[in-house]
Amino acid sequence: MQITFQFRLYPTPEQEQQLHRTLDLCRKLYNRAKEWRDTAYNQEGKTVTYAMQQNELPAFKKEFPAYKEVHSQVLQDCLRRLDDAYQRFFRGEAGFPHYKSTERYLSFTYPQPGAVSKTFAHDGFVYLPKIGFVRMHAHRPFDRTIVTQINVKRYADGWMANIGVKTEAAEAGQTVETAVGIDVGLSTFAALSDETKVDNPRHLRRAERRLKRAQRRLSRKQRGSRNRQKAKRKVARMHQKVARQRKDFLHKQSYRIVMSHDLIAVEKLKVKNMIRNRRLSKSISDAGWRKFITYLSYKAERQGKRFVQVPAHGTSQTCVCGADVPKTLAVRLHECEGCGLVQDRDIVSAKVILQRALKIAA
Ligand SMILES: [Zn+2]
Repeated sequence: MQITFQFRLYPTPEQEQQLHRTLDLCRKLYNRAKEWRDTAYNQEGKTVTYAMQQNELPAFKKEFPAYKEVHSQVLQDCLRRLDDAYQRFFRGEAGFPHYKSTERYLSFTYPQPGAVSKTFAHDGFVYLPKIGFVRMHAHRPFDRTIVTQINVKRYADGWMANIGVKTEAAEAGQTVETAVGIDVGLSTFAALSDETKVDNPRHLRRAERRLKRAQRRLSRKQRGSRNRQKAKRKVARMHQKVARQRKDFLHKQSYRIVMSHDLIAVEKLKVKNMIRNRRLSKSISDAGWRKFITYLSYKAERQGKRFVQVPAHGTSQTCVCGADVPKTLAVRLHECEGCGLVQDRDIVSAKVILQRALKIAA
């Protein structure tokens, strides 16, 4: 199974210069290669392929010795990206590829780091060929994994490594001893069928409020002013910090749930409704849930647990006894006249989700 982990990098000043230089050289190669394709086509009606461009790399390096500082796999990946952009265009999935400005070209990739270095990551360092051992905040161990790709990306507040790994999934468990249903909601982050709730942590809610205020302040600044530029950078940094905190929260919660249950059940999220809803706060929480569900599913697979998604239809309008209990969003309490169950509506939903999942699993 393929997973990508993200780690913050702490390059030395020299390494950081090297990172910037690599990114810039890659971007220029991308733009040159695009220019070559376009002129060949416009002037001679010829199609330039990825293979043709790759074959020119050695000669290109001779002409521009600066490119010897960049690992050849990274340069190949650059051409590959351009090729992908054209392929997407030919298939009608995207517009015509653009030239890339420094704001639009933000990362470079080692597509097969295993082949270039056996000593990949140890003691909080990651080995980036031609750049060296870069200090990294490694918050997850790399046991039972094979590194398949390293992508180095520039953000407003620093550099991150996106490390793709292949893990051997654990043997799928045969018996289900403890099962849990999860209902994701708006008022609390999630309700569980074991009658517990997971709330958004207070520091995260505060950070999100601060971000919203900063965004409002930014929108009041005059366009093109220096103050606006400054505020924009600040908002970008805050945004990334919040996104990272949220991700961390989602990882911790999904890990905790997967480790304490053999079967994990969730609702399928309705994609259509989510796209239709343009309210910012809503779209943020939707993105959070989708991530949460992804984390749950891959963690479950890795641990040999079962992960079941049930159709979302009517889970909040029925009771565990099977009776219909219609209620609007404003009604927080579930009261069933059939069996007399009185409970928080989200908890009841989680129980219904679990019931449905057990039926599917059996
Ligand atoms: Zn009932």
